[in-house]
Amino acid sequence: MKHVELAIIGGGPAGLAAAAAARRNGVEDILIIERDSRLGGILNQCIHAGFGLHTFGQELSGPEYAQRFIDQVAELSIPCLLDTMVLDLSEERILTVTSRTEGLQQIKADAVILAMGCRERPRGALNIPGTRPSGIWSAGTAQRLVNMEGVMPGREVVILGSGDIGLIMARRMTMEGAKVHAVAEVMPYSGGLKRNIVQCLDDFDIPLFLSTTVVEIHGRKKLEGVTLAQVDERRRPIPGTERYIPCDTLLLSVGLLPENELSAGANVALSPITGGPVVGEDLSTSIPGVFACGNVLHVHDLVDFVSQEATLAGEAAARYLSAGESQAETIPLLAEGGVRYTVPQFIHRDTTENVTVRFRVGQPYRNAAVCVYVNDQLLRRIPKRVLAPGEMEKVILRPADLPAEGGSIRFCIEEGTN
Ligand SMILES: Cc1cc2nc3c(=O)[nH]c(=O)nc-3n(C[C@H](O)[C@H](O)[C@H](O)COP(=O)(O)OP(=O)(O)OC[C@H]3O[C@@H](n4cnc5c(N)ncnc54)[C@H](O)[C@@H]3O)c2cc1C
Repeated sequence: MKHVELAIIGGGPAGLAAAAAARRNGVEDILIIERDSRLGGILNQCIHAGFGLHTFGQELSGPEYAQRFIDQVAELSIPCLLDTMVLDLSEERILTVTSRTEGLQQIKADAVILAMGCRERPRGALNIPGTRPSGIWSAGTAQRLVNMEGVMPGREVVILGSGDIGLIMARRMTMEGAKVHAVAEVMPYSGGLKRNIVQCLDDFDIPLFLSTTVVEIHGRKKLEGVTLAQVDERRRPIPGTERYIPCDTLLLSVGLLPENELSAGANVALSPITGGPVVGEDLSTSIPGVFACGNVLHVHDLVDFVSQEATLAGEAAARYLSAGESQAETIPLLAEGGVRYTVPQFIHRDTTENVTVRFRVGQPYRNAAVCVYVNDQLLRRIPKRVLAPGEMEKVILRPADLPAEGGSIRFCIEEGTN
């Protein structure tokens, strides 16, 4: 069986940044395994600008951003297996991989970084009534068709879901000559970034219908139209509010799911909220020597944060390979009162670095405060004019903030006290 010190599953922005950080921290024997024929992950199809403002202070396209990290990996001479799919990961960190040229192989790794990204939620997960004609695509598939294959999926478009990919595709389809009739969002607020609503919908006069969903799909072989209806607070369609929109294309942008089949197979503990592994501040999972970063850990809004997080995972894997696992006591981070989750979910007491805790809120808030309690004592109160589920928030904890022994750190939103 082949052996490597550090195997990285996925050659997207997370895997690339983790690999570069691990090499810079002394790991010689690294292998990136990527199922696609090129590195860069999903960024290869994101040809719009807006990437890298935090990392490089420049507005780059997705492929330009990815190329900066591909170049680093090349300069550091880190080997990559392309066109190679990891089929299985065991608790003992044995990877089963397959490729056309090499067939089935097993690789034993001393440490593994999970960087498999996420996939889009499909129509089957939504139970939309009606026929099953052609013309219904996930927004990401349409993005790939238009930006990489040069194919327009259709001309008369309705988009269901206001996640960032749907918003970006509303603008992209319009720029390619399609008519985007509406973006329908079942929730009373958008799931995307405010800047994308302004730049992708408002600037192109594309209406966003909130509290609205598709209640029927029309057309036998090809999509002919959809019926939209408003929904009540329990997301049930309100009779009498239906409206028919003729269209040949329905794009679904209804959420991303971290790709954790391999993690589950290796018995990595997963969070039911994020869908990703439960991790400490060093991004270590419940399986010793297995780390996670990027969209496989939790869905990010900006790739810059993916790169920051992945750098930490690479550094932590290097530390694990030279010094072993931290045996220190762990302090749980609790997400309560409006905070849906935190990443990390726990902190090792012996940490000597500041810890960036990222989280999302479960609903929009105005004039509220993010509060952090250590053993029920208020540690920090951060007033926020607006908090939205589409925007990832962060709080930085210092080692001095950690409770002396036992206890926990609690994150919550408090309203009306600004
Ligand atoms: C369709 C889509 C469009 C997006 N558009 C934008 C956007 O416009 N702007 C933005 O800021 N963010 C966008 N995102 C978010 C973006 O994915 C992240 O910011 C970033 O790309 C996450 O990096 P990652 O490395 O974690 O995941 P990815 O970029 O998804 O990379 C994961 C890599 O792992 C590989 N992989 C997965 N499983 C295996 C396996 N079993 N074996 C081998 N390789 C494997 C995949 O092929 C992929 O290359 C989009 C996401 C999606 C899904």
